[in-house]
Amino acid sequence: MLTIGCHLSSSKGFLHMGKEAVSIGATTFQFFTRNPRGGRAKELDHEDIRAYEEYAIAHGFPVILAHAPYTLNACAREGRTREFAWETMADDLKRMEALPGQMYNFHPGSHVGQGMEAAVELIAACLNQAMTKNQTTTILLETMAGKGSEVGSRFEELRAVIDRVRWPEHMGVCLDTCHVYDAGYDIVNRLDEVLEEFDRILGLERLRAIHLNDSKNPFASHKDRHEKIGEGSLGAETFVRIINHPKLRKLPFFLETPNELPGYAGEIAFLRGAYRE
Ligand code: FE
Ligand code: FE
Ligand code: ZN
Repeated sequence: MLTIGCHLSSSKGFLHMGKEAVSIGATTFQFFTRNPRGGRAKELDHEDIRAYEEYAIAHGFPVILAHAPYTLNACAREGRTREFAWETMADDLKRMEALPGQMYNFHPGSHVGQGMEAAVELIAACLNQAMTKNQTTTILLETMAGKGSEVGSRFEELRAVIDRVRWPEHMGVCLDTCHVYDAGYDIVNRLDEVLEEFDRILGLERLRAIHLNDSKNPFASHKDRHEKIGEGSLGAETFVRIINHPKLRKLPFFLETPNELPGYAGEIAFLRGAYRE
């Protein structure tokens, strides 16, 4: 069974997202932990969470993926921005434990002139103050396109962060297809080689989720503009190969394409049809 879903709005709660996912043929989904531009999170609704958990079991949802606000920059230069990021991550991870055993994805950040090494230290320090030994949430570092001074467009940079984390057993990686292609990993023509490189540097067992996005820009453009599946520079065939790849096919896949629900439903139907059971 292909585990696939898309990014959904969390404004109406978990049960609502679960039902929305089912309505478009999904068995998982991604959501922002709070307003993507940052700010305070809504109070947790424990009744909604219990109802969602029952619904998820009944509908065979294996795992869902939380996404930190994209403004979160754990390695920001300015004190207040960095402080916000560290507080947000600690608060998010604490809240995640209300729905145990899920995944939490974040963008490593931008070093804004401080250099990669300083950034890696700050990101690891942020994780170390936010994570706890017994947490049930797996934290995912997302592979980035390398726009501006973004950290995480090379597998080595993600590895350097994980190497500095106190409990690396709680760490994984989310591979974003648009981002890695924009970053210069040729998953269109050399998917096997890219996965070998990932395995050598990070270990494939760290790969826990895939963001499925086509790209509006050409290979190695370092841009990060998502496109609908099959309408960008990666092309539909690439996605058919990715979801069926023996090393990837069991992973949960998340669409972050520029779509409303009907568009997502169409992409999910296409990919389910292309999945070899
Ligand atoms: Fe992301
Ligand atoms: Fe992504
Ligand atoms: Zn992106």
